[in-house]
Amino acid sequence: MTTYRLMMLGPPGAGKGTQAKRLAERFEIPHVSTGDMLRQARRKGTELGKKAAEYMNAGKLVPDEVVIGIVRDRLSEDDAEGGFILDGFPRTRPQAEALTEMGIELDAVVNVVVSDDEVVKRLGGRISCPNCGAVYHKEYNPPAEDDKCDACGQEGLITRDDDKPEAIRSRLSGYHEKTAPLIEYYEAQGALKNIDGESAPDEVTEAIVEELEAN
Ligand SMILES: [Zn+2]
Repeated sequence: MTTYRLMMLGPPGAGKGTQAKRLAERFEIPHVSTGDMLRQARRKGTELGKKAAEYMNAGKLVPDEVVIGIVRDRLSEDDAEGGFILDGFPRTRPQAEALTEMGIELDAVVNVVVSDDEVVKRLGGRISCPNCGAVYHKEYNPPAEDDKCDACGQEGLITRDDDKPEAIRSRLSGYHEKTAPLIEYYEAQGALKNIDGESAPDEVTEAIVEELEAN
């Protein structure tokens, strides 16, 4: 039986969340994103959920052992028997090793590859309304009237500090630093599938499916 125990990798702006959702629908497997999982565990009030909540409420990063426990619980649920798509986990090599130690093997790690310049282009064009927070994109999703918010009529849209090219480049260098050992780890296991993420979203989905079904 074909199982699709997958993990998604890709820089911010690569569209990996969108692809994960589409693959989940296509293969009828759950899309397991770390953020959703943490919120769910917190809502359910499990032991680990309560622990995670303490960190989240304090605005702190939830430590590895808590996240790993929550992932283990989630993947042992019935709907994950035929496979799953992990999104946002593992983020580091120790987390990846912990996953392997749990006895969870991945069939494929889908790495959505988008160049830094393309990410800067995608994320760098974001403009926000200082009044209501609506977000636009200079090129891909501009407001109807130049420099005016569609939602509230505010004039003078701004580029938030997070969306400035230098901020994006610094986030990207952090991303590459953290994921390089992860990529090496999965490459050595023969699980890594590099997919060109610069084409249209539909084409990216098809390229991923083709690659997975070829194996
Ligand atoms: Zn507005």
